[in-house]
Amino acid sequence: MADKIEKTFKFVVIGGGIAGVTCVEQLSYSLPSADVALITASPHIKAVTNYKQVAKVLEEFDVEEQPTSVLEEKFPNLTVIHSAVNALHTRSHLVETADGKVYGYEKLCICSGARPKLLIQDKPYVLGIRDTDSAQEFQKQLTKAKKIVVVGNGGIALELVYEVEGCEVIWAVKDKAIGNTFFDAGAAQFLIPSLGADKPERAATCKRTRYTTDDPTDGEAQTFTSGLDSKSFFSAHLLTCAVFPDRHMRGRGSGPTEPGSALGPDWHRGLILKGAEWASRRVSVEYQCEVKTIFTSEEMLNSQSQTCGPDTGTWPVYVVLTNGKTFGCDLVVSATGVIPNTEPFLRGNNFALDDDGGLRVDDHMATSEPDVYAAGDVCTACWEHSPLWQQMRLWTQARQMGWHAGRCMAACALSETIELDFCFELFSHITKFFNYKVVLLGKFNAQGLGSDYELLLRYTKGEEYVKVVLQGGRMVGAVLIGETDLEETFENLILNQMDLTPYGEDLLNPNIDIEDYFD
Ligand code: FAD
Repeated sequence: MADKIEKTFKFVVIGGGIAGVTCVEQLSYSLPSADVALITASPHIKAVTNYKQVAKVLEEFDVEEQPTSVLEEKFPNLTVIHSAVNALHTRSHLVETADGKVYGYEKLCICSGARPKLLIQDKPYVLGIRDTDSAQEFQKQLTKAKKIVVVGNGGIALELVYEVEGCEVIWAVKDKAIGNTFFDAGAAQFLIPSLGADKPERAATCKRTRYTTDDPTDGEAQTFTSGLDSKSFFSAHLLTCAVFPDRHMRGRGSGPTEPGSALGPDWHRGLILKGAEWASRRVSVEYQCEVKTIFTSEEMLNSQSQTCGPDTGTWPVYVVLTNGKTFGCDLVVSATGVIPNTEPFLRGNNFALDDDGGLRVDDHMATSEPDVYAAGDVCTACWEHSPLWQQMRLWTQARQMGWHAGRCMAACALSETIELDFCFELFSHITKFFNYKVVLLGKFNAQGLGSDYELLLRYTKGEEYVKVVLQGGRMVGAVLIGETDLEETFENLILNQMDLTPYGEDLLNPNIDIEDYFD
């Protein structure tokens, strides 16, 4: 194979997503004369634009698809190769691409991302949303749809049910509350009225909106006009059980939610997500259930299942849930997490994989194979994390990991030492859900804290939801929904681990300018 090598590069990066592009940029800045190759299966790259450092670790940016020429023009040392890598030989430091070419590398970084976990493979009318193409395919199919079933409780599902109009949505979630990947039940309750309300920019098209839910505890359908007490303000209640209906309350010491796949607000920008029924939007949530099986119309008719109802055979696809209900619909959207894209790299190599299928990386983003690094959704961070950080497969972390991998690869080539970057000290993410700004900091859902934590809550209906997680009197996490302006102060309080016991509930007292106070 060595005789077939097209070229050997100092650095090869696989994948033109945020992680790969940031890694290439970092390598090119650090070693402008080094030969760098970006091998990517997609014709476009994803670039970070409008980057803004909001606080010490909080950052905000847009993600834009750009032609690869933009990168090549910027970095003369860079060669972009448009092909998928279909084999890797770590011993000989070679990669093979789908067009039959072989490239050598001194150091390699795998940034091949992840793909949606489909509920079921190769079933018609079942879609996963991953990239622009699949989002557009969804948009196309939605125009003919009267009813869809959305399965999953992460960011994609959360945004999808909010964005889709003109179509009935059945939303199947495995948890007791919506948005479990990001929120506790209280935050979910804050957001729920938005599902039943007109979207600000499209008020005219959804006049008869309605939000219904099947109560997980008694199984009866309910219509929510508002999820919370209508008092306009609750100042600093320690675990405000009184505020929330019991069945939605996560009490002191209740278990953390498992972090899962994530998504934010931007993927649907530019897409018109309208179904065939233009006048209505209706979202019904089926709590605490999973998909048992999915039938096509024909399979349903042949199944002689007890679940057959009057509409059997009239919908293209049927979803049977573990709560015993069956829904016929036009389309099923599977938004149940992602699987790292590792397959082409595993054959013949000895990569250590994590339980979630990711390539295990250390604090230098190095995999278990020599000279092979990984960053972004494809990898699993296996170093000893800061107690305030956790991995979530998000753009922010793809950028941070790509950047850190680039630095580590360059430092290794220069025989320099490098520490884990400060951004991995504290988990931070800014996004938008249901048109609200959402900031997540540290152990925002008390992940891994067992029963040893307290919550402070402040809630103003339709305006803001502030939750602080305290452990031993110190702030270890926060959820800020709405324009709270608290992110920088809270980030500081979490990072400096100041004992906040003396301030008690005043920490969230709206009459105290906390920013000024701790300045
Ligand atoms: P990707 O962006 O997936 O890029 C992987 C790249 O590798 C692609 O260019 C692909 O073509 C290439 N590739 C794959 N296999 C090969 C191969 N064998 N050979 C060559 N090239 C290969 N996160 C947020 O924080 N905010 C959001 O709003 C948000 N929205 C999302 C919306 C959707 C629909 C999805 C699915 C995810 C969203 N996420 C969001 C998560 C976020 O997109 C990912 O965490 C992030 O894109 C991961 O970046 P990456 O570079 O690791 O992988």
